[in-house]
Amino acid sequence: PRDALPGPLDASRLRINLTTALKVVPPPEEQLFGKHYSDHMVVVDFDPVTGWSDPEIKPYGPLSIDPCASIFQYGTSVFEGMKAYLGPDGKARLFRPDLNMARLKKSADRLALPPFDEGEVLKLITKLVTVEARWIPATKGHSLYIRPTIIGTRPSLGVRASDTAILYIILSPTGPYFRISKPISLLAVNDPVRAWPGGTGGHKVATNYSPTFKPQDYAEKLGYDQVLWLIGDNITEVGAMNFFVVIKRDDGDLDVITPPLDGTILPGITRQSVLTLATAHATRTILSGIPGTLRLHADERRLTITDLRAWASDGRLLEAFATGTAAIIAGIGRIGVEGKDIVLPECKGGLGPVAKALFERITEIQTGRVEWENWAIT
Ligand code: PMP
Repeated sequence: PRDALPGPLDASRLRINLTTALKVVPPPEEQLFGKHYSDHMVVVDFDPVTGWSDPEIKPYGPLSIDPCASIFQYGTSVFEGMKAYLGPDGKARLFRPDLNMARLKKSADRLALPPFDEGEVLKLITKLVTVEARWIPATKGHSLYIRPTIIGTRPSLGVRASDTAILYIILSPTGPYFRISKPISLLAVNDPVRAWPGGTGGHKVATNYSPTFKPQDYAEKLGYDQVLWLIGDNITEVGAMNFFVVIKRDDGDLDVITPPLDGTILPGITRQSVLTLATAHATRTILSGIPGTLRLHADERRLTITDLRAWASDGRLLEAFATGTAAIIAGIGRIGVEGKDIVLPECKGGLGPVAKALFERITEIQTGRVEWENWAIT
């Protein structure tokens, strides 16, 4: 059985091979998402006989992979997106990295990629971030994006599990994902769909993403920023973010609603954190800017375009926002459905009051300004 392999992934066997030619760290204004990469990367190989190789930190650079490898032919690739944040105390923090590791393990298992100890991968990430400390941006709103990836490298066209793999980790200094402080616009799309019941929508597998490029281009051509992915009338996600609405209830309280994790939605770590903070605010005031007397009811339930239209027309649709590691929280200003826009109330700076309070509290936790349930790990 795979679990009894001779060579488990072991971070204590890390070998470090530093570059002799350090790059210049780009200035903050050039730190666009995914544009620049740090000096080094982690690489670990998996072989079915010997197991995981000794992990290595080595200069960032190309990998050598056979043209018939599983990754190229069958898209055998899973990845994670997480960040290191620099606090005012000069310490680097990771935000709930255990959840990224658990998700990575699930994604790898879904594509029959080899198992590994999540704690060991986290140790490798921490070590790489320490080695690359000068790449963690100090500018407000900037952070060091971390992209752990596992690819199947089996050099054969046979349609079956890849019994060899490479796990690698790369780092990219990044500023705000959306460089504008106005709300984003969405085009609702139900043909094609991003995910479907029983599919891989709930996993972070590369093949969920490439089929979204064309619909994304189409949305941009029509003047929208991102796609709102539907299944029929049901709302699932926004681009590569989770979707939330804030609805005014009859009793004056607010519902903060996101669709449930039914397998078609990626279980976002920001999504989970928003649900926890909104729930906590119901019993004590933890969101600055939201009065303690204003109760929030966090709820995971089905949301439809029909619901949005009805709430918009009777004035109950107060806010819509999207959550994810890259943008943290992005306000939504309008949603195009079949040639007509559902328009959200205007708000200063692009975020409604609930989205803004959540954004501020989450970024304070990420940078260690506020301590909350050990979410930020130094
Ligand atoms: N949905 C999709 C499809 C995503 O790719 C991401 C980014 N990982 C998210 C939602 C948001 O997840 P998280 O908050 O963990 O970044």
